[in-house]
Amino acid sequence: MHSKILLIYTGGTIGMMQSHSTGALKPFDFKHLKNEVPELQRLPVTLDSISFKHPIDSSNMHPSVWIELAEIIEKNYTKFDGFVILHGSDTMAYTASALSFMLENLAKPVVLTGSQLPIGIIRTDGKENLITAIEIAAAQKNKKPLVPGVAIYFEYELYRGNRTLKYNAAHFDAFKSPNYPVLAEAGVNIEYKTNYVRKASTKKLKVHKQLDNDILVLPLFPGISKKITSSILQTKGLKAIVLQTFGAGNAPTDKWFVDELSAAIKRGVIIYNVTQCLEGSVVQGKYETSAQLKQIGVISGEDITMEAAVTKLMFLLAQKLPAQKLKKMLSTSICGEMS
Ligand code: ASP
Repeated sequence: MHSKILLIYTGGTIGMMQSHSTGALKPFDFKHLKNEVPELQRLPVTLDSISFKHPIDSSNMHPSVWIELAEIIEKNYTKFDGFVILHGSDTMAYTASALSFMLENLAKPVVLTGSQLPIGIIRTDGKENLITAIEIAAAQKNKKPLVPGVAIYFEYELYRGNRTLKYNAAHFDAFKSPNYPVLAEAGVNIEYKTNYVRKASTKKLKVHKQLDNDILVLPLFPGISKKITSSILQTKGLKAIVLQTFGAGNAPTDKWFVDELSAAIKRGVIIYNVTQCLEGSVVQGKYETSAQLKQIGVISGEDITMEAAVTKLMFLLAQKLPAQKLKKMLSTSICGEMS
């Protein structure tokens, strides 16, 4: 029996065409994409598809769209063996991270892919990405999916979704998973690194449909101003900040800076320490420049990506957890997003 795969088209470069008037790339309908890949008919899978009525450039991605995607998966969960989401690469790592939190106990593959060149261009990377993503979502052993969970497939590599980031706007090889090994490599054969794949949950799928975006990302830089920082930290309604720190989680030790952060924490604002480095981890207390952060109650994000930190905060804040529980969940991995 062939695996049944649902293809969900949200937009992105893969299905884009050039506007006649401006020459800029803009999303185009799914029929165009399907016509460009007749190979889809020949795949040994039963393929069905759903397209967004108005496909988007993923720079217009929004938590409400993540909820829409989660609902599509929930509605079709028992009818399909796996899901492939066609998505723009710009914010794909955010969507993959968000879905990994929202789809609790996910036991089937949800593979996101897209491309750097539209499918209608002869040198497109879209065909290979699309065809192999479908093959991966359909792959089973003893009737069990080989890679359950949310993943990104791009340019011959499969990554755990909530470990990825887009790091290259020009190369076909656009994604990295700096702190977690690849889950599969596609060469002549697709080599699955099963040791790194999370075990499928045996519990029932639980779909979380609430996200809270009253948060902000604040990247530190030498010379950051007191006036601007305090006004950001005192923003009305602000619930959490991803503080992008230097190196292993370090920040200036200026008294005003530590005092402002400390006051914000006392007002109930969560400060989540995530490094600006692509690789490695926050280790609060390793240097004097991070010891104070730990003392005042800044929470270490360890080796979480900024994309996973943002979506994890949105996900957890919406659950209105007691402060201690919220802090505990931010400090530990809840679905493989931290080592
Ligand atoms: N701007 C495009 C998008 O994210 C880029 C891409 O698809 O690669 O929708």
